[in-house]
Amino acid sequence: MTALDIARLRAETPGCAHVLHLNAAGSALPSQRTLDATLDHLKLEAEIGGYEAAAKAHDQLEGFYPAVAKLIGAEASEIAFVENATRAWDLAFYSLDFKPGDRILTCMSEYSSNYISYLQVAKKTGAEIVVVPDDNHGQIDVGALERMIDKRTKLVSISHVPTQGGLVQPAEAVGRIANAAGVLYLLDACQSVGQLPVDVAKIGCDFLSMTGRKYLRGPRGTGFLYARSATTAGIEPIFLDNHAAKWTGDNEYTLRGDARRFENWERYFAGVIGLKVATDQANELGMEAIWARLRELSEGLRARLATLKGITLTDLGQVKGAIVTFSVTAADHLALKDKLRQQAINVTVSTQFSSRLDLKNRGLVNVMRASVHIYNTEAELDRFVAALDAARS
Ligand SMILES: *Cc1c(COP(=O)(O)O)cnc(C)c1O
Repeated sequence: MTALDIARLRAETPGCAHVLHLNAAGSALPSQRTLDATLDHLKLEAEIGGYEAAAKAHDQLEGFYPAVAKLIGAEASEIAFVENATRAWDLAFYSLDFKPGDRILTCMSEYSSNYISYLQVAKKTGAEIVVVPDDNHGQIDVGALERMIDKRTKLVSISHVPTQGGLVQPAEAVGRIANAAGVLYLLDACQSVGQLPVDVAKIGCDFLSMTGRKYLRGPRGTGFLYARSATTAGIEPIFLDNHAAKWTGDNEYTLRGDARRFENWERYFAGVIGLKVATDQANELGMEAIWARLRELSEGLRARLATLKGITLTDLGQVKGAIVTFSVTAADHLALKDKLRQQAINVTVSTQFSSRLDLKNRGLVNVMRASVHIYNTEAELDRFVAALDAARS
């Protein structure tokens, strides 16, 4: 494993000259290469026409699929471009046929949009939501999951890394249980792909949803869905159009055989190219090296925060990643965030609207969130912690 050249990474990230960005979990700073690739395609569209630009950029656009497949250990035919992680997840989830009494097993730290979808489908179909409790580490209790999974279970669906903290769920252990029970496994990997090594074969998930702008450092308005061909080929997408299917007879259509049946025809082509380039960069740097650096930075940040009185670290789990959360005694987190923003320091606040069961259960109204990426430095962490300390008094 090669160490990352941080000075070079920063020089190739235009945002580093402007902000101290600790909001990768919201939207990370893209590299110059990703920015150029995206802008070049937008310019080409303006100069020669959108369809003509797509034809000219054919190889780049097609290159998106093998690049993403390589990153997560999939086949190119198992990847669909989708405009964000929520829609990618929706395309998998809403394509399943739930019946009364079918069970959806999920976790305490589940993402709000996903849970809202469970509630909607439960209301419409009579399916039931079952929340598997946490273990002593605050991660999904794998033993409880094993006891709870049964014939009624139609889907196991969890977020790999929640939006509101450093927790990394034991996704592989969950996969072993779901696979052994023959139950479909949907993994929201919105914060994990690009942050840590993710291998869909090892995890055993059938679907995986992902966004472009977070740990992959791609453009906004991009994402993808992975659909395992061996287990999901028979699942017809909830939406079809003339890209996902062909109108092959007056009264018939024929579906695409690969995961692109989940795509729609019109999309953000410049974004596809931008996300391809961002994915190439993650592949080139190597996910092991990226993950090592992110753990080093986040542990360093937790250690610095722990030296301040009145700051409580709130990350759960045995393995903690790049999202650092904490609460500040007697401070208004939102006001603190605004004060820091005025100094070009970007952090955010995760509220119960992101993950109600988790934060409410821990008695937390909200938490401050500082999420690092590979372009951050130890000197920036020092500066952030000093600025935070000054801003709260
Ligand atoms: C951000 C996030 C999402 C939503 O991703 P979008 O690209 O905004 O749709 C889903 N799940 C988790 C865990 C997230 O952090």
